[in-house]
Amino acid sequence: MSNSSYNPYEIAQQQFDSVASKLDLDAATRELLRQPMREYHFTIPVKMDDGTTKVFKGFRVQHNDARGPAKGGIRFHPMETIDTIRALSMWMTWKCSVVDIPLGGGKGGVICDPRNLTEREQERLCRGYVRQLARNVGPNTDVPAPDVMTNAKHMLWMLDEYETIHGSRSPGFITGKPVGMGGSLGRTEATGFGVVYVLNEALKNLNMPIENTTASFQGFGNVSQYAVRLYQQLGGKVVAISCWNETDKKAYTFRKLDGMDIDALASITDSYGTIDKEKAMNLGYEVLSGEAWIEQDVDILIPAALENQITIENVHKISKQVKVICEAANGPTTPDADKIINERNIFLIPDFLANAGGVTCSYFEQVQSNQNYYWEKDEVLAKLNIKMTSAFKAVYELAQSKNLRMRDSAYVIAINRVAQAVKSRGWV
Ligand code: GLU
Repeated sequence: MSNSSYNPYEIAQQQFDSVASKLDLDAATRELLRQPMREYHFTIPVKMDDGTTKVFKGFRVQHNDARGPAKGGIRFHPMETIDTIRALSMWMTWKCSVVDIPLGGGKGGVICDPRNLTEREQERLCRGYVRQLARNVGPNTDVPAPDVMTNAKHMLWMLDEYETIHGSRSPGFITGKPVGMGGSLGRTEATGFGVVYVLNEALKNLNMPIENTTASFQGFGNVSQYAVRLYQQLGGKVVAISCWNETDKKAYTFRKLDGMDIDALASITDSYGTIDKEKAMNLGYEVLSGEAWIEQDVDILIPAALENQITIENVHKISKQVKVICEAANGPTTPDADKIINERNIFLIPDFLANAGGVTCSYFEQVQSNQNYYWEKDEVLAKLNIKMTSAFKAVYELAQSKNLRMRDSAYVIAINRVAQAVKSRGWV
């Protein structure tokens, strides 16, 4: 799923290969880790409200489970591809490893557009997805979660179907559930807050007080909305946010140079993160092209939408003022653009570190679900901050001491841990 010809799986493999060649990994470990261990491809027949039946295509990919059950979201998107899911499952392995939680990597997806499905059709699709997979996932094998265009409601339908099939309650099967129905307080905020926890830590190391910084965001979905909130609470100023407009089939950037009112913007945004253009204009926002988010004279760029967004075609549009890129989305930067960002000495916090807050909180949710004992929100967020900050510090220190880019440093830590697990288990 992307707007260009970049293949995320090839990118994920290239990133792995370039770090693996510098590590002392034997050939078998490299071969094992550069591809998924298991894949499920299936069809999901869904009875539509008008009486017809539509057949959807679904996937679940388990990249590696040496460190614990596979873990990762399920995406609903009309342009979903198996290679995107493969890449994302790989990045989930590195993500869980870099924050040192005992989980592996997985990812799922359905080729569909939930914006064109009724609530009941979405429920049948969720139940159909689980029916096809119920024997191959579970609290001790593979634990799904929300991702692009899926949410807590979808997770609860999936859980209900899983529990119905297995004849018992097992809330640890899935995370991102509604609070009060096995969900964790703080899970909705976790990915966005986690982005800002690591960003704040980076800014301290770069001697850039957060309250003196400005930022531009791509995307206004769940991750971006909570990242914007915390970044502003800590004193940062957001001047531009772009988002997709499904009616016009293009993106727009909304700008207000004296800072944006996040509550007002959220109140005119739909559940898929689309800001209402007319209402935004009435609130005094400039409406610019979709690409304008990347051209702003700000200190920080935060891509928080989809993969392949900072490419060789637009990387030169990044302002000289930009000092930090914090990848809140998965795979937003293509390797050719990444190289130029590196040459320009922009400090880049890589995706699988920056956005690991979601899965870290999912891990906390699973622990709470399995114990049937739920923590206070402050406790969840404090634990999340500790995990994210210490992961950042480890990656930063290695990057400094070995003169590595942050992405490569994060890969070295993550790959080494998984390679060690594979070896200790006697797989290679
Ligand atoms: N979908 C999120 C991610 O890409 C969260 C995954 C999870 O909580 O398992 O990190």
